[in-house]
Amino acid sequence: MAGFDALRVIGGEALVQILLAHAGELGLDDQASRDARIPIEQYLHYRDAALDFLGDSFASTAFETGRNLVRKLKEDRPPEMLWLLEQYKHAASQLPLIGQAAVLAAKGNPGSVTAKMKSKDLLLIAIERCPECRGLQRKKPFCSINQGVISEFASLFLNLQVATKETRCMAMGDQRCEVEVTVEEVP
Ligand SMILES: [Zn+2]
Repeated sequence: MAGFDALRVIGGEALVQILLAHAGELGLDDQASRDARIPIEQYLHYRDAALDFLGDSFASTAFETGRNLVRKLKEDRPPEMLWLLEQYKHAASQLPLIGQAAVLAAKGNPGSVTAKMKSKDLLLIAIERCPECRGLQRKKPFCSINQGVISEFASLFLNLQVATKETRCMAMGDQRCEVEVTVEEVP
């Protein structure tokens, strides 16, 4: 599980042990799970264990997990990422690149992330079958992993500050989760 090291950093060994206990025989072999899509049942096991353990700090932990995924991406330097950065080197807007990075970072997760430009200055990230909030009910938008991924990618790879806002969330009864991304003006 790609976010597993990140969880250890954030939640400490206690969280990792809880997740391991929940994982049971499913196994947590890092390489194998990185290569294959994680089954949703397994993913929800982790999520629910983390929810129990973290309570209200789940969202901020999820955000940090997203940021750590990107830091790992920078260390690993996957060829797809290098290729993407090269493609957008001279692009007028980096928002499409940020969208593609979000899609790439979600590879292997049970949900499905897509990115499109809603207008010239507004990137829309859509998460179908969102594994983060599936089966939950919340009054406010709940999903933070992707927002962490997006913010950290923009900052770490592009030296850009972006604002992210979840405008639709399955946990609020919407059909899918949507995150709007805009570049913050540098004063
Ligand atoms: Zn959501």
